[in-house]
Amino acid sequence: MRLTVVGCSGSMPGPESPASCYLIEHEGVRIVLDMGNGSAGALQRHADLRSIDAIVLSHLHADHCLDTSSFVVWHRYSQGSRGPVPLYGPTGTRERLAAAYEQPPSDLSDVFDFRTAAQDVTADVGALSLSFARVNHPVPTYAVRVTADSAGLVYSGDTGVSDELVTLARGADVFLCEAAQPDGEPGYPPGLHLTGAQAGEHAAAAGVGTLVLTHIPPWVDAQAQLAAARSVFPATELATSGATYDL
Ligand SMILES: [Zn+2]
Repeated sequence: MRLTVVGCSGSMPGPESPASCYLIEHEGVRIVLDMGNGSAGALQRHADLRSIDAIVLSHLHADHCLDTSSFVVWHRYSQGSRGPVPLYGPTGTRERLAAAYEQPPSDLSDVFDFRTAAQDVTADVGALSLSFARVNHPVPTYAVRVTADSAGLVYSGDTGVSDELVTLARGADVFLCEAAQPDGEPGYPPGLHLTGAQAGEHAAAAGVGTLVLTHIPPWVDAQAQLAAARSVFPATELATSGATYDL
């Protein structure tokens, strides 16, 4: 299984990366995890949009889903699309994406085959298996585990401290975990994001192979987040747009 970081900027696009978007490939199957602002362009560097077999949206905040609107445009007008693409997301995904695309909202069933992500839901996309866990964020948000053969990758979505995330991530080879909250800065509400140190603590508790920190906003010091995470879990790297990981 190969992970390509398409977009890793937290909360909005940054100068070096689109907002959240990750490409998973295995034996000719391609899944996209989240489509944040700016990601539909960068994604085309790594995959023909016709080859996308499924899309998973962790939640419906703008920086995780807005470039589905670009996907709708491509799908309808490029002459190259296949049938509706399976799209997994929380309850309300259809209405959210339709409202983002146009007003009044139209049905997007020609573009997406909407399927519900929920706690303990599992699904297969070719040789890839998906499982979900509800994490700790102000709107319904699901971390996802992608498994192929014996390889496992877990993506946190956005979350505060979450025992469910530790359970889902247990033994994962790669743990793609958000670290949006600056270490040592008070004032962030609980149940929103993780600090670098907290991401490291989740990785250690889950016994993962490599922790890849992601979703760091442009105004947060990424190197400080990395140092804080490494102080807890040394096998930690920073996600960068275009980076690949083979599991
Ligand atoms: Zn969010």
